[in-house]
Amino acid sequence: TAKSLGKNTYKKYEQKMKQHYDEYLLIEYYLPIARQNDEFELYFQPKLDLTTNSINGMEALLRWDHPILGNVPPSKFIPIAEETGHIIKIDEWVLKKACLQNKKWSEGMFQIPLRVAVNISPLHFRHPNFVNMLERVLKETNLEPEFLEIEITENTVIDNIEECIACVVKLREMGVIVSIDDFGTGYSALSYLKNLPINCLKIDQSFIKEIAKNIGDIAIVKAIICLAHEMGLKVVAEGVEEKETLECLNELGCDEIQGYYVSRPMPSSEFEKKIIRG
Ligand code: C2E
Ligand code: MG
Ligand code: MG
Ligand code: MG
Repeated sequence: TAKSLGKNTYKKYEQKMKQHYDEYLLIEYYLPIARQNDEFELYFQPKLDLTTNSINGMEALLRWDHPILGNVPPSKFIPIAEETGHIIKIDEWVLKKACLQNKKWSEGMFQIPLRVAVNISPLHFRHPNFVNMLERVLKETNLEPEFLEIEITENTVIDNIEECIACVVKLREMGVIVSIDDFGTGYSALSYLKNLPINCLKIDQSFIKEIAKNIGDIAIVKAIICLAHEMGLKVVAEGVEEKETLECLNELGCDEIQGYYVSRPMPSSEFEKKIIRG
């Protein structure tokens, strides 16, 4: 009957809710000790420069392998790390690791130096100590600032435009590269762009995936590339999985691409073998 059906549906819903809740609690519980227990690893995904057809950088992406929970994706643990404030320590660990690794690679192994990109969460970027911490990490690791790129999302900027501009100005003065990640998905007007001295826009995957088939996506991406170039910014397309997508982006004048078509994110040893030693 309808009544018992409703009851069943509710039971299933209740179970699902409980699972989500339990998972949340487990992540919240295990996350603070993940670093000490050596459960974090940095993966690197190359960026391909379409003008020179060569790899010119890589994005550092965090992986968490827990003995009981298994591989927990960033989409699950990063939001919880942001809510609990742990993201500050985590981002700092990632930044330091990424700079150290890039410094090591730049000493002898590279033909040309590559730039490493690190994602910084909004909460962390707004932290009054962020720039000092970054300066300290660069000093400690001895990495030249132009080989570090910081990725922030539009939402980071929107929440506090004035402070954010001041922070980006400081990073640029130091020589660090700054990019807007997931461009086009934030709840923002474009006006913030004119006062923000960034270097690069990364177009979100959602506009890229179907670009070879969808005229709406072509129009949007074309407009973003035009806007960026008029402002003297580079454009990176994220989530390129197919050859047709690359060809389409090449025609539209996109500067760089990142995605499974070029390579998945890889552990440092594999990145070294495939990308650095060729
Ligand atoms: P993001 O910065 O936009 O990173 C790109 C995401 O797209 C990565 O997911 C990457 O693995 C995935 N990706 C790359 N190429 C393709 C493709 O061709 N197809 C598809 N379907 N996906 C592709 P990942 O590693 O799961 O990270 C998700 C998000 O988590 C990142 O998005 C970033 O916002 C956040 N994140 C990852 N590592 C860190 C970190 O160390 N600190 C902070 N604050 N956030 C991080
Ligand atoms: Mg990113
Ligand atoms: Mg992105
Ligand atoms: Mg993202």
